[in-house]
Amino acid sequence: MEHSKPPAAQFPKADKKESGSGDASSAFNGHFAGPVKRTGAPAADRPAPSASASVMESWKEERTRSVEDNEMSLPSLAAAYTTILRGLGEDPQRQGLLKTPWRAATAMQFFTKGYQEKIIDVLNDAIFDEDHDEMVIVKDIDMFSMCEHHLVPIFGRVHIGYLPNKRVLGLSKLARIVEIYSRRLQVQERLTKQIAVAITEALQPTGVGVVIEATHMCMVMRGVQKMNSKTVTSTMLGVFREDPKTRDEFLTLIRS
Ligand SMILES: [Zn+2]
Repeated sequence: MEHSKPPAAQFPKADKKESGSGDASSAFNGHFAGPVKRTGAPAADRPAPSASASVMESWKEERTRSVEDNEMSLPSLAAAYTTILRGLGEDPQRQGLLKTPWRAATAMQFFTKGYQEKIIDVLNDAIFDEDHDEMVIVKDIDMFSMCEHHLVPIFGRVHIGYLPNKRVLGLSKLARIVEIYSRRLQVQERLTKQIAVAITEALQPTGVGVVIEATHMCMVMRGVQKMNSKTVTSTMLGVFREDPKTRDEFLTLIRS
């Protein structure tokens, strides 16, 4: 598994890759109705938050790439694409391809712009003290990423739920967290975990659940060529992992 960086949440965690085949899509490919904020089970029923709430701050150390780096590396990136065109048996000098290396290089920098951003910049000024202790769910967040094995797109939807513990995050920021981690070279399992860990570290909530359903172009366009196959991954932390009732509520709400 390509989990290069062990996540440092205070919660035990679990990853579950349910399926890479068409079967997974049947459970998850319904259309969802957009962001919802829902009432969960009574707070008294829930286990207390983890006592060892040392704030891990790995998300502050994420690698970044600057705009200046982009400008400096553009010529060599473009040259690399010229090499690729030749390697494919194309003529980089023919009319239609003259600007392609530069376009492709610029596009690739955009597809990976998550390297230029840090989670902490997004979360600043967006965390609020709030006595809200009901489940917060945002579902159907569009996600576009790049498979780090084949450099082709992964796209799909992300569903996030968390149970606040005196702190909440501006709802739009959940989508921004998804954007920052997905606009990098990724594997779906790591992306799922990174999102869950970032929310955990930022809010120290009672629990977090993240589900991603995605299509991998490297699976769809090559190999088995299963057009409708979807890969579903999930990370459940804290009470979402420990309490089946809370987890079921989350899974039911994102499927409804
Ligand atoms: Zn791939």
